[in-house]
Amino acid sequence: MLTLEKVVAGYHGLQILHEVSLHVDEGEIVSIVGANGAGKTTTLNTIAGLVRPTAGTISFADRDAHGRRPSDLVRQGLVLVPEGRALFGTLTVEENLQMGGWTQDTSELKGSLEEVFELFPVLRDRRAQIAETFSGGQQQMLAIGRALMAKPKLLMLDEPSTGLSPKLTWAVLDAVKRIRDTGVAVLLVEQNAAHALAMADRAYVLESGSVVLEGPGPELAKDDRVRAAYLGM
Ligand code: ATP
Repeated sequence: MLTLEKVVAGYHGLQILHEVSLHVDEGEIVSIVGANGAGKTTTLNTIAGLVRPTAGTISFADRDAHGRRPSDLVRQGLVLVPEGRALFGTLTVEENLQMGGWTQDTSELKGSLEEVFELFPVLRDRRAQIAETFSGGQQQMLAIGRALMAKPKLLMLDEPSTGLSPKLTWAVLDAVKRIRDTGVAVLLVEQNAAHALAMADRAYVLESGSVVLEGPGPELAKDDRVRAAYLGM
């Protein structure tokens, strides 16, 4: 569904990603783990069309995605929940969700809203609440819900557990699994490697902008190098 081959990207002439190759297949949760500054966000932003690669190829759903506008990619089903969530803080929950549905016909919005409310009932109960008054966990649910309104084929999540309690982290990650079970592939970036590997069908370890390890999530969690570097063991 998504394939990166030898992608090089960075900022202002400074190379951050060094020939990154990875793929996400239908029905998979794929995690990218790595330390601060390893290039995880840059990888997602490059896939989303926010950072322009200088070499390599990116294809999504059998089409060349390299250099395409972010809005075109969203229309095609490639949707990012960005780091920090980027909610419209002064708008209500329902207004935020409607903004996320900008790719859809008005007639489809009601059904999409219902699907999001089924996944996150708290959003239904608080649909009139101003987004910035939500707790961190609820804001993350709203950010994911807003992304789902665009009907993604592949949902990319950048550090969804940041700032959340362990209980809320698992609630959010459990929702991510349920989203995958509805047929949406997931590419997940997490600093919390234990969580990311536990729930991944496959995972990649990124170090200084290069993929240094890849494999099934639970298998990588047993790798001595991963245990020492990312799991504190
Ligand atoms: P974190 O977990 O801290 O978010 P990360 O693995 O997501 O880390 P990136 O955010 O992709 O890493 O950052 C990779 C490198 O790129 C870092 O050295 C960072 O300082 C640099 N960088 C990120 N964004 C920019 C930018 N807009 N302009 C210049 N350099 C940037």
